[in-house]
Amino acid sequence: MALNIAVCIKPVPDPKNYDKVTIDPVSKTVVRAGIPTIINPVDKNAIEAALRLKEQFGGKVVIISMAPPDAADKLREALAMGADEAYLLSDRAFAGADTWATSYTLAVGLQKTGLDFDIVFCGAESADGATAQVSSQLGEWLRVPHLWNVFAFEALEEKKYHVKTKIENGYMEWEAAAPLVVAVSREINKPRYTSIMGVMKAKNKKLESWGVAELNPKRDKIGLLGSPTQPGDIFTPDLKRKSEKISGDPEEIVKTILEKLRAGGLALEGSNYTCEGGL
Ligand SMILES: Cc1cc2nc3c(=O)[nH]c(=O)nc-3n(C[C@H](O)[C@H](O)[C@H](O)COP(=O)(O)OP(=O)(O)OC[C@H]3O[C@@H](n4cnc5c(N)ncnc54)[C@H](O)[C@@H]3O)c2cc1C
Repeated sequence: MALNIAVCIKPVPDPKNYDKVTIDPVSKTVVRAGIPTIINPVDKNAIEAALRLKEQFGGKVVIISMAPPDAADKLREALAMGADEAYLLSDRAFAGADTWATSYTLAVGLQKTGLDFDIVFCGAESADGATAQVSSQLGEWLRVPHLWNVFAFEALEEKKYHVKTKIENGYMEWEAAAPLVVAVSREINKPRYTSIMGVMKAKNKKLESWGVAELNPKRDKIGLLGSPTQPGDIFTPDLKRKSEKISGDPEEIVKTILEKLRAGGLALEGSNYTCEGGL
């Protein structure tokens, strides 16, 4: 026997480019176009967990992602880590999806592969949306149990696992059987580096892109129009600060600062503010 293992990965904006991320004022969704992305960091732990399980029992690791077409290189990176095949769910109609529509689309994509998945690994949360909802919703769409915030995962047998999930002030232990959705946290393992051999092999691995035509999803469950939750308002706080350079010797500077604080309404009387003794 061998395991069919899926891993959901999400491309998220590269932290080096966070300053370029904006929110569309009308749809209230993130404008990611043209912003370099990375694989959501904890999703690499999910890939690692999947690869270790495959190394233990044999089988296939399938990567799936719902993202714009330029995310293909992230899937290729996952293949270079050692996954076997990858599917990019990409269509304008998927854009603006909330977690419900995202998890539905992923579930339809997993079903379309024709593989009966024993385990679907996800990250516990994404670095951008960070709702931590997708993995549990995916479990519900697939009608299989789901465990979230998994920091320890050990196979007792091929399809039986000892799992630990983090909770506030402690952890819970589970014995779980496949089929299962497991959302991992960063502590679970250390993702492997991608080797040059891995990169070369990845070039010939299967990577397919599927849109609405291939998936044939229910149209009222995808994208912005199929999303029941929508943000009421999103705004960028005004972070502009008034600044002024104060110069002079230390005593003068402190005096000026105190005057300004008093003028601003700060009650300093009675306190012994002094710069005697120097800085
Ligand atoms: C400004 C802003 C406003 C938002 N408003 C809403 C809102 O009102 N309602 C709402 O429901 N959502 C909202 N979202 C979430 C947004 O729609 C999400 O990007 C998307 O639905 C996935 O959710 P998440 O990133 O929170 O995933 P999480 O649940 O945090 O991700 C957990 C894991 O699920 C998997 N995963 C998540 N997305 C994908 C994907 N596309 N492809 C493959 N795997 C994936 C990954 O393994 C990931 O580690 C908002 C996001 C932002 C940034």
